[in-house]
Order: sequence, then structure tokens, then C-alpha cells
Amino acid sequence: MQNIPKKMKAMVLTAYNELELQEVPVPVPGPNEVLCKIHSVAICGSDPQIIRGDRPGEWPQQFPHILGHEWAGEVVALGENVKEYKIGDRVAGEAHAGCGYCKNCLSGNYTICLNYGKSETGARHYGFNYNGANCEYNTYFTKAIHKIPDDLSYDYASLVDICGVALHCVELTGVTPAGTVAIFGPGPAGIALMQIVKGLGCARTIMIGRGDRLQHAKEVGADYIVDINKEDPVEAVKAITGGFGADEIFECSGASVAPVQAVKMLKRGGRLGLIGHYHDPELKFPNLVDLISNEISIFGSRANPGVSEKVISMLERKVIDGSTLVTHTFPLEQYKEALDVFVGRKDHSLKVVINP
Ligand SMILES: [Zn+2]
Ligand SMILES: [Zn+2]
Repeated sequence: MQNIPKKMKAMVLTAYNELELQEVPVPVPGPNEVLCKIHSVAICGSDPQIIRGDRPGEWPQQFPHILGHEWAGEVVALGENVKEYKIGDRVAGEAHAGCGYCKNCLSGNYTICLNYGKSETGARHYGFNYNGANCEYNTYFTKAIHKIPDDLSYDYASLVDICGVALHCVELTGVTPAGTVAIFGPGPAGIALMQIVKGLGCARTIMIGRGDRLQHAKEVGADYIVDINKEDPVEAVKAITGGFGADEIFECSGASVAPVQAVKMLKRGGRLGLIGHYHDPELKFPNLVDLISNEISIFGSRANPGVSEKVISMLERKVIDGSTLVTHTFPLEQYKEALDVFVGRKDHSLKVVINP
């Protein structure tokens, strides 16, 4: 039994763009919850959006708020009814816990829970509309955590959430055995997704992007890279595939031009998976006729339902190699510096992990 203090350090968002290191009470686990000591929490691209206030009133619903949703740690206390975990278990978390009762939750699609945002129903989006992991301890429903093997480090286990986002999109979209996949966006999700599709038997990967991150993609396994600053990605992918087009394309960049270009570089009958978040809420496909006459299928993908255990195996077996993603670690006290490195993509940063 660990000694659990009454107070802990937390990086608290007190208003938009206002982060403060505070001493706050350690939360107490309720029924079906465990208290976890947070060892590693990775900064996600959505964190700066929450801090800026891109989704006012939704992310977060109120202040003060503790961000952080890509985390790994250790179970240190059990709430009522918890049977499947014991103190000392090493675990990784998911951001979403659905209510568990609505039609979508019952079909396994808890990241699109019909009670999303209503924490009184048991639905949680940890780090978004419910307190997250940028602190020393937090409580989690056991449905939102997964045991991790001893040989997977906490830093790499903090990648379970983002890698799950990539795997869920691949599961929805599909991947052609021995086919060709093109990926927009050599950021963390894109690099993880590239390793996943290779692990699933895709023969050729084409990474589309620019700068240091594109070079990194080449170093960690992209078969082809296309630099959008130097060439037209549609022409480049067509040339690589002998005019045929890619079997699947995954859009992880969030650039509003990318989905439109993707449709033009897919084979007829190809499939497009969308992970990127677009700043333009009015974003439209300009030409639906192309989609219909070429039988293009498009899959919107939200988060990572039901894939964490699979991703943990992939990380353990290095199908997804954590060392290709985690570039920096910082203590909680240096969160703002860490955020600056992450947002500014300084010093070749990809995943920046906080160790509270
Ligand atoms: Zn995330
Ligand atoms: Zn639900």
C-alpha cells in the first residue's frame, strides 16, 4: 500500500491561455474507479486547442481544468466494486469513457457516446471535459484503462491513446494486403499509422508532408516521401503508382486542401480515412461527382474505441516503435516550456512527454 498524500501538484488551466502550477486535493476514487499515479503524459495536438479556447464551453466545460489525456501510470488505490485491478498494476489510459448504456456505447462505439459531455451519466472525456493527467494523481473508470506489460515503459505507454486513434481509423478504412497507402502528415499520428499499416501487410507507404518531419518519416520507414513544397502531391502519388493511384489514403495533417487532393490520388474504388481536425468548420468537398463515379469511400474517424489492447501489443512488439515518436521528456514544473517545444516543433520534436 502506497502512502497517498492529500495534496498534489497539478498544471491547472484557470482561464483560456492561463496555466498555473497549483497544489490541489488528490481525488478520491468512486465506485468502479481507481486512483492512478501518473508517470507519463504526452502532449497532444488537441491540448493547445483546448488551452486557446477553440471549443469554448465544451473543452473544457468549466474552469479550473486539468488537461492531459495520453497517459500511463500505476494503480495506487481502488474504489468500490473494482475487482479486475490491484494496487501496483501498470496501466495506460484512454481519453474517452462512454456512459456505457446508450445505443452507441452498447455497440462498442463509445467515442461517439450519445451522452457525450454529460458527466452525470458516467460519460467522460478525460482531459477535455473532465480533469485529466497533467498532475500527480487522477481517478479513472476501469473501463478507460488497460494493463500494460512490464517491458513497455511508461513513456512509450503514454502513446497508447494516439496510436489507438491511428489504428481505429485503419480499422474503419481498411488496408489492402500488399497494396499502397499514402499518408498526409508525418506528425505523431501519421508516423504511428504508417507503422501500423506496414505491420498489417501494406507493401508500400508514401508519406506526404514537408520539412524535418518528412525526413524523419523516411528515416523510420516510409518507402517514398513527397515534399509538398517541391512537388504536386497528386502527380507524385500517381507517378509512384504507375498512374493507378493509392489503395488507401489517410489524412492526418489537418490541412484543408489534403482531403481534396487525396480523392484525386486514390485509385478508382479507393478509400480515404480522415483523422485530421480541420479549422474550417465549413469545409466541403468540391466535387461529389468524382466520389460517386469513382466509387470513393470516405471514413471519418473519432478517437480510439476498442483498440487499446491491440495497440499495447503493437507497442510491446515494436510494430509501433515508441522511440520513433517520443523525442522529449519534461517534468510537470516545465510544462509551459514543453508546450512551447511541442507547438513550435522545436528541436525536431514529435511527441513531448511530461513526467509528473
Ligand atoms: Zn490526443
Ligand atoms: Zn454512451
